[in-house]
Amino acid sequence: VHKREVADVDHTFASLQTECWRHDWWHKDIDQHAVNYARRKGRVQIEARAHEILRQNIGKEPDAWDGRQTPKEGNIIYYAQHATATCCRKCVEYWHAIPQDRTLSEDELGYLTALVMKYIDLRMPDLAEQGIPVPSIRKGNKAK
Ligand SMILES: [Zn+2]
Repeated sequence: VHKREVADVDHTFASLQTECWRHDWWHKDIDQHAVNYARRKGRVQIEARAHEILRQNIGKEPDAWDGRQTPKEGNIIYYAQHATATCCRKCVEYWHAIPQDRTLSEDELGYLTALVMKYIDLRMPDLAEQGIPVPSIRKGNKAK
């Protein structure tokens, strides 16, 4: 796990799935809001957004909020972050051997984004490169 080669990511993914809590994130249903959002954006924009979210939420040195900055639904990127241990700096340190006490490098952000996208490719293999129109969920259908 500690080599950080995207080519070797199958092994990393297999290891991640052995952790009980994380295992769940590989198999649970993706909520409809998150699925719609991903389809509306398309893979290209989702990748750009994933990079942004990672930079904003885990790019800097962690504060007291670390471990709670990644929501549990509403965006497939969040599911991917929990599944690939890119949700907070504690997980990034534990699973990817990147120390907590500094800003992430571009290489590291690129690597972690690649993990997130690999998860999304596995969970939504038919996600189009470009976004498509998807009607919003009607009120009363537990949107948000
Ligand atoms: Zn975490």
